Amino acid sequence: KLDFAGRIAKRLGAPVREEVVHAVDNVDLTIRKGEVVGLVGESGCGKSTLGRMVAGIMPPSDGTILRNGVDIRSLSHAAAKEMKLRTQMIFQDPYASLNPRMRVADIVGEAPLVHGITTRTGYEAYVDEQMRRAGLDPAFKRRYPHQFSGGQRQRIGIARALAVKPDFIVCDEAVAALDVSIQAQILNLFMRLRTELDLTYLFISHDLGVVEHLSDRVVIMYLGRVVEEAPTETVFSQPNHPYTQSLLASVPRIENRKRAFAVVKGEIPSPLNPPPGCHFHPRCPHAMERCKVEKPVLKEVAPGQRSACHLNDAA
Ligand code: SF4
Ligand code: MG
Repeated sequence: KLDFAGRIAKRLGAPVREEVVHAVDNVDLTIRKGEVVGLVGESGCGKSTLGRMVAGIMPPSDGTILRNGVDIRSLSHAAAKEMKLRTQMIFQDPYASLNPRMRVADIVGEAPLVHGITTRTGYEAYVDEQMRRAGLDPAFKRRYPHQFSGGQRQRIGIARALAVKPDFIVCDEAVAALDVSIQAQILNLFMRLRTELDLTYLFISHDLGVVEHLSDRVVIMYLGRVVEEAPTETVFSQPNHPYTQSLLASVPRIENRKRAFAVVKGEIPSPLNPPPGCHFHPRCPHAMERCKVEKPVLKEVAPGQRSACHLNDAA
């Protein structure tokens, strides 16, 4: 039974400068309550756009987003506000979103106070609790963001997000700017908070290695389309789509990597003008004539695994 779903169907568009780019095309994504879904792809593939739409921040030009089975456009003003509060986004650079003139205590405590989640009298204790939970020492709550390291600033961002009691977190490259050892600490924190607070995550990353330890299921996007979707173990042991296979081949193991950028041969074509047929055909080692003209559709290739590749029809 799905009682939580971020579901998007049909064609979705995102404005980029003057043009409308169909950054996300015909995506149907379901996230179950309590699940961690990793959304992976190279930059420009539309994963951030999809994340913002799922979070309810950006409306799709066409298509539907359901939350607990209800179209978010049909929510009353109050219910929409509540939904926005219960959905929090955590970004790559918390510094950009932390007011440099605000003390950490106010960064963390302001929204809960405004929304009546805490009171004036309970405020200090509430802030301390949020900071401790994110691994920050409340003794530093009078400090300003610039007095913290990158990893600690991400913890401040996490404390602020969790302070409004969300149940769904969209992380967009939340650890991408951090050193590998700090990345591991923050990923562990996300996992601990998941169990502690019964959270659901959409975890967006360009790095398959980052989502591996965190996600129950992985969704791979390429130029606005989902090309593969499967349980995490399956993605790593039996990847079906040639794009997933090439991403995997270029993932340095999390234990010993310095740079975690996915490297796939060939340039990423412009999302403004994606190649016809299978978008991946100019870079695919298995491309056939058919791939240049015919768009492959997602089909189940194994239980819980869907892939969009014509090779699955060839046999
Ligand atoms: Fe490669 Fe063709 Fe499959 Fe696309 S559809 S991934 S080009 S084999
Ligand atoms: Mg992005």
